[in-house]
Parts: sequence; C-alpha cells; structure tokens
Amino acid sequence: DIISDQKNIISALVILSIIIIVLGLNGLRLNKLLKNLSQTDALSGLYNRRFMNKKLEEEIMKFQRYETPFSVLLLDIDYFKNINDTYGHDIGDKVLKEMALAVKSNLRKTDLFFRVGGEEFVIIFSHTELSEAYKVVEKIRIMVSKLQIIDNEKITISLGVSQVCKNDTPQSIYERIDKLMYKSKQNGKNMTIKS
Ligand code: GH3
Ligand code: MG
Ligand code: MG
Repeated sequence: DIISDQKNIISALVILSIIIIVLGLNGLRLNKLLKNLSQTDALSGLYNRRFMNKKLEEEIMKFQRYETPFSVLLLDIDYFKNINDTYGHDIGDKVLKEMALAVKSNLRKTDLFFRVGGEEFVIIFSHTELSEAYKVVEKIRIMVSKLQIIDNEKITISLGVSQVCKNDTPQSIYERIDKLMYKSKQNGKNMTIKS
C-alpha cells in the first residue's frame, strides 16, 4: 500500500509538472502574440505607427552614438479617395495590400516598413545615406506605377525622403518627410523629393 501511495504521488507530480510546463509555454506564446499585435497593422501586416516612433528613437540613439546615418521615406498613394469612390472600399483595401507586398519585395532585410495612416507608409533605411536611399526609392516609385492591381488603372505614389540630421527627433524627421511628400503632391504627384 505504501508503494502504491508513493506511485500515486509520483504520478500526480508528473502530471502537475506537465500542466505547469504547458501553461508556461502557452503564456510565452501568448506574450509573443500580444507583442506582435501591438506592433502590427492588421490590414497590411506591416509594422504600425507606434512601432515606427520606437524604431526612429532607437535609430537616432545609434546615430548619436556611432554616427551611423540612416534615411527615412514617407510615401502616400495618389488619388486614393478616387480609387475607393470608383471601385469600392474592398478594392481599395486590395490596392493597399498588394502595393505594400510589392514594395516589400524590393526592400532589404534591414529596412523597416510601416503603415502609418490610411494610405501612408514609412520606410526606415538603416545604415543608408540619402543618395543611396533615393535610388532605391525611385526604383520603388517606378515599380509601383507599373503594377496592374486594377484593370486599366494606374496606381502612383508621391514620396519624400530625407537623411537623419543632428538634433533630430522622431517628430522632426516625420515632419520633414511629410513636407517633402507634400511638395511632391503640389508638383504634380508620382514624384520623389529628397532633402
Ligand atoms: P492625394 O493624391 O492628395 O494623396 O489624395 P488622396 O485621395 O489619395 O488622399 P485623401 O487623404 O484625400 O484620401 C485618402 C483616402 O484613403 C480617404 C480614406 O477613405 C481612404 N482610406 C483610409 N484608410 C483606408 C483603408 O484602410 N482602406 C481603404 N480602402 N481606404 C482607406
Ligand atoms: Mg494621405
Ligand atoms: Mg493620398
């Protein structure tokens, strides 16, 4: 009887250990899921605006410490309201997703891609000077204008790209690229302006 009691206790302990391990693993998985959700935009699967601010802060700190330059791009789809009004919101969503996917396939692993508004996207090119970023960005602009997402409809984007400066904050960089992108709009859209 003592032996059978001991066996029961050991079995109970084994079962308890398994339960604790399973719960722990699920907790870890849940943590990871929550972290992903808090950094991600649901429609595009890209990083979100909040995460962009965090990454800009990190990149600025690296720049201040090691002087590694980086460049930041803001891109906005042209006449997107027309797309929604003409083809409907679902097709609008499809344009957003497919354009994002196409742009992503032109990026390097070290580039960070964010959806920061309805039809506005940011890319952080780490370790990249403006002249190099500009070349990549122009390639992206031309590639997007050739996409065939909707039959007989050309999608174009307007872009502003800039390099990090001394004393920059996430806000100051964002304001700068926003102004540059706006200049592209004023100058006729489907254009990149760098500074
Ligand atoms: P511009 O060429 O000057 O950029 O004009 P625009 O029409 O692209 O820009 P505007 O800011 O006037 O309109 C943006 C539109 O984007 C309005 C809004 O309905 C649409 N939008 C925002 N978020 C989403 C979304 O998640 N899905 C879809 N389908 N449309 C969205
Ligand atoms: Mg916009
Ligand atoms: Mg737009």
